[in-house]
Amino acid sequence: MTCARRLASAVVFVLAATACGTTAPPAPAPAPSPPAPSPTEAPSPSPAEPVEQAPAGFVRLRDVDPSIIEEIRYATSHNFTGDPVPGYDEPMCVVTRPLAEALHAAQQRLAPQGYTLKVYDCYRPRRADTRFVEWAEDVDDQRMKAEFYPGLDKSRLFADGYIAERSGHSRGSSVDLTLVRLPANPQRPYVPGEPLTSCSAEQRFPDNSIDMATGYDCFDSLSHTDDPRVTGEARANRDLLRDVLTSVGLQNYRYEWWHFNLPREPFPDQYFDFPVNSAAFR
Ligand SMILES: [Zn+2]
Repeated sequence: MTCARRLASAVVFVLAATACGTTAPPAPAPAPSPPAPSPTEAPSPSPAEPVEQAPAGFVRLRDVDPSIIEEIRYATSHNFTGDPVPGYDEPMCVVTRPLAEALHAAQQRLAPQGYTLKVYDCYRPRRADTRFVEWAEDVDDQRMKAEFYPGLDKSRLFADGYIAERSGHSRGSSVDLTLVRLPANPQRPYVPGEPLTSCSAEQRFPDNSIDMATGYDCFDSLSHTDDPRVTGEARANRDLLRDVLTSVGLQNYRYEWWHFNLPREPFPDQYFDFPVNSAAFR
């Protein structure tokens, strides 16, 4: 059951509990009916949708460390689906507080070495994973193949573990990230429809990160953190990212150099669905 559904059920339960109270208060006098709107009047707004709040324990990363660069790819078209992903209403990194504090500690270790972290994905609403599954099942939609999975048959995405029905990101204690050399160069925006280049090619999309041998979300075995074909500078860069994040208690997922999680996470069994937006934190 999604969080939204749980919330809806909770509301129904509260309403039902109120309606079934044992000592009913005296019925109030009926309110006079409101005048009917004239045809020129705008219809009165329907009751406001309940705002889906982030649970206590979630924070905006920028409130803990505003120096960490945020480039939330799923809030843009520059991702393997080619469209902004449902649930990412704002390009904002949301994580559990202990993960934010670990990232802040890593950032403090990196700054004297001339680097900053750049996050690509943080907490991910479940509705986004639902969209990824729908996208993966639609094998005819291969708009972004040339960049994100040029060497992979799209029908293999589930079997090879690149797409799963549920992601640890929805528990708020996983993060996808890279390193950028300071002072950070501005990131050229991706223009929807622009010619694509393979994420595993030497001349790939010009991300302002340091060389990790592949781009982010590259569905290719070259993305495996310890792939022996990654040598030299890119090997040193991957090792630096993993070493600093391991030193603050995070764990790398060995099939993706960019994915890290907090082993002792606050919500090990809960998959959330509140949207990524400022209203969730009011
Ligand atoms: Zn990830």
